[in-house]
Amino acid sequence: MSNDSQQDQRSGAIEEDAIVVVFGASGDLAKKSTFPALYALLVEGLLPANTRILGYARSKMSDEKFDEQLFWKIRDDEKEGHIKANDAKKEEFKKMCKYVQGPYDKDEGFQGLEKEMRRIENEEFDGKRANRVFYLALPPSSFAQVSHMIKKNNYWSGKINRLVIEKPFGKDTEDCRAMMDSIAEDWKEDEIYRIDHYLGEEMIRAIYHLRFANRFIEPLLNREHVESISVVMKEKFGAEGRGGYFDEFGMIRDVGQNHLLQAISILTMDPPDSMDNDSMRDNKVDVLKSIPPIENSDLVLGQYAEGDGKKSYVDDETVPDNSKTATFAQWAMKIDNERWKGVPVLVKCGKALDEGIMTMTFNFKAPKHNVFNVSAPSALVVRLNPEPAIYFKTNLLKPLSKGSESISDEMKYTVPGRKVAGDKLAYEVVIGNVFKGDQSGFVREDEVIASWEIFTPLLRYIEGPNGPTPVKYAYGSHGPEEQFEFEKRFNLPVD
Ligand code: NDP
Repeated sequence: MSNDSQQDQRSGAIEEDAIVVVFGASGDLAKKSTFPALYALLVEGLLPANTRILGYARSKMSDEKFDEQLFWKIRDDEKEGHIKANDAKKEEFKKMCKYVQGPYDKDEGFQGLEKEMRRIENEEFDGKRANRVFYLALPPSSFAQVSHMIKKNNYWSGKINRLVIEKPFGKDTEDCRAMMDSIAEDWKEDEIYRIDHYLGEEMIRAIYHLRFANRFIEPLLNREHVESISVVMKEKFGAEGRGGYFDEFGMIRDVGQNHLLQAISILTMDPPDSMDNDSMRDNKVDVLKSIPPIENSDLVLGQYAEGDGKKSYVDDETVPDNSKTATFAQWAMKIDNERWKGVPVLVKCGKALDEGIMTMTFNFKAPKHNVFNVSAPSALVVRLNPEPAIYFKTNLLKPLSKGSESISDEMKYTVPGRKVAGDKLAYEVVIGNVFKGDQSGFVREDEVIASWEIFTPLLRYIEGPNGPTPVKYAYGSHGPEEQFEFEKRFNLPVD
């Protein structure tokens, strides 16, 4: 087979005969997101014909325990009315799934898995070999080893093989490179699907349409018209229960270097030639490469103290008492290219704050000839939370005004019903795209590296001997006061 046809085969859609192996099947991601998304794809008829799902992990799990893990979220969603109860589909799903227990570091475990896959192929697929999707719902420290073991024991080159992994992809540029290089020893880039579930979020996907399907919008999105871009992600809850994981990563690594930077690259990339796997990612990488490392002085860090009857971050049992990990971070980025030079991109994200929101805003400059002397800038906002929407903040004639007074009002597009679907829909979209072979919504290797290059020097400074101590703010408050000084510095409008 020529290289081209091998590549075509690797990147094609899986239409039928698929075995999906979920490694780490006993864990949190598997029960919260992977199994529910696979179930949703089944209910919607979007799984390849003849799909089987194998859960694999070290833990001993009886059939009942595995059943609990499979349906943990699905039953809750049914109870709360988020999805329609469907006993027949649940039964069908249960029959498709089986648990295989084994280690991650010994060939015997993967050979046992192979035996089960061969059994399925021989007994249930009329002897046909299956396409194989390996989903690593595992801590990143085990990605290299497990992907190597799979290649050695479970890869079948006559069919499609896909490796699905989830962020975080390393902790900085070098760490990420080491992880990527090690996986690349066994797997080709077009077989690797790096999930950032934000890329499956409806309002993130909506940005492409907003920008590239409306001639009246795209010409405004550049330094001629835009004063600043701001991205805000605030969570009401703290790190409760996830303190161990969070303390190792912190706010910037948890959401900044991945989800929020992905959103920024889509907001600011040049229009792609097409929506194929590489055109979009080429343009995202171009814009990421135009962003220089963040300056140490363009940063505010905070850490939540007690408030609202809730414990402080460091009082959580899973967090070291002297932790300097930031639970609030704000920073400014520059984009040094023709389109965006001089337009600051301001990012703010934090936990245990007064509200749960995620917005992305283009703040427009004042009119060149400001006859109405308007002070509120017009803005184009894409909002993920709390209610997904796209709206323009516009200066309009104040209703029933006797003179020519302006008011700032919204022209809005909302997405009804979307809130209920939450991340579930994002995972459904993302995993559905693994079967389709549509890699455009996954993070390419050069994209991850370019993302880390923006943050690595800043993270070294934060974690170095002269790193800043995060400012305390009360749980449930609007965060450190310093954020407002910072926003003034960049002329960011106050909401
Ligand atoms: P867990 O910590 O729940 O681990 C998943 C499973 O991996 C465990 O059930 C355990 O299974 C096995 N495991 C745990 N520790 C180790 C270890 N040190 N070495 C090998 N295996 C181990 O992780 P999550 O399910 O929360 O996350 C999985 C992946 O998804 C991670 O990369 C995480 O960063 C990412 N992620 C998770 C999110 C979430 O909401 N949970 C959100 C976004 C990303 P067993 O011992 O039975 O083999």
